[in-house]
Amino acid sequence: MAKKAAAFILVSLPVTGHLPVTIELAKRLMNHDRRVKNITILSWRLPFTSPSSSYSDALSRSHPDIDLVDLPEIEDPPPLDLYTRVAEAYIYRAGFLGLMKYLSERHRRVASEFDDRSCHELLSIPGFDRSVPVNVMPPRLFQKDSHEAYVKLAERFKDAKGILVNTFTDLEPHAIDYFSREENYPPVYVVGPVVNLENRPNPNIDPVEHDMIMRWLDEQHESSVVFFCFGSKGVLDSMQVKEIALGLESCGCRFLWSIRTNPMKDVKPYDLLPDGFMGRVTGRGVVCGWAPQVEVLSHKAVGGFVSHCGWNSILESLWFGVPIATWPMYAEQHLNAFTMTKELGLAVELRLDYVSGHGSVVIAEEISRAVRSVMNGGDSRREKVKEMAGLARKALMDGGSSFSAVSTFLRELLAVDPSS
Ligand code: UDP
Repeated sequence: MAKKAAAFILVSLPVTGHLPVTIELAKRLMNHDRRVKNITILSWRLPFTSPSSSYSDALSRSHPDIDLVDLPEIEDPPPLDLYTRVAEAYIYRAGFLGLMKYLSERHRRVASEFDDRSCHELLSIPGFDRSVPVNVMPPRLFQKDSHEAYVKLAERFKDAKGILVNTFTDLEPHAIDYFSREENYPPVYVVGPVVNLENRPNPNIDPVEHDMIMRWLDEQHESSVVFFCFGSKGVLDSMQVKEIALGLESCGCRFLWSIRTNPMKDVKPYDLLPDGFMGRVTGRGVVCGWAPQVEVLSHKAVGGFVSHCGWNSILESLWFGVPIATWPMYAEQHLNAFTMTKELGLAVELRLDYVSGHGSVVIAEEISRAVRSVMNGGDSRREKVKEMAGLARKALMDGGSSFSAVSTFLRELLAVDPSS
């Protein structure tokens, strides 16, 4: 059969964690099939994030056939209806699709947002093995406007020709089994984990701090360091920073703590720490700004990760077999944390119900208890996480489930005559 050439356009969602994954997906599609000759990635920018030029420089050297085009800057958080316009190139986790399907069906029965009073209600969401408590729903589903935007997005999912999900069969078996049997939904291609492991230029990284972190990790014993990092937006108030500092002081563990500060204020991570803190933890802890997270998680000294449970962070920690203590903060992170703790038993529950910006504080005692548990909580969880790391790698090998799903996706997509 003659091989036709194909060009793709991918649209990256205006969220920091999405561009590297979209680039990674583009590379994977090109490496997978020689018919994919050229890929253009359209990328929105948020205020206070740098243009994608740092990525495009590295890309033009390694993959000259992938073009990165900056779209105009938009507000942060992006208007949710923007997502409805790009929903046909969507890549997420399978549990999120279950939530989307549930939302559009619920909307026909109850056309209103979630309610604080029903926090202990249990929901039956497609693809989840267990009933899901209302309080792990994305916090924005409790607000009228954003609830409506989510419902609109959920409705659009049904019109897609196909949906790629960034997960793998052993991680979300129930959701994947559910969607493989569901006839009234677009085909779901399970192509993950799509994780960006190399060429991660990031203008937020201070090169001096980067070298200091990696040198310090080199000096630590295997699996002795707990890593705290709450994604690209996990800005905490000074009261919460103080509780983490107290928790780290009292648990006695070695730690690397990445602190996000408000980009609109000229505050450095050290400015937020309690007086004398660094002196009291000399030698056993490092505080930094933007961390080279993938390099950190891949380092043998790192034995545990206190994470906000962004999906990229979960996939990266699983890839390197590092167990998580869950501290979800916003978006669908609570649902991710629920899956990791209650459904899969892969993570320690630090919190499932914390919502950033709502005035609640996680106290030092809870933090140090969770750190001790993730660092010293016996080998069985660590073994389970390592086993999942092996399964993630297997899924991507030639003949593995995600490798085969990419083949099926490309075969079906390229068989469609664009003129029809
Ligand atoms: N990240 C990083 N250093 C940091 C914070 C985040 O390298 O200090 C990276 C992390 O490795 C991940 C992404 O930023 O790839 C965050 O994505 P995730 O989905 O976990 O969370 P989000 O930022 O979207 O809430």
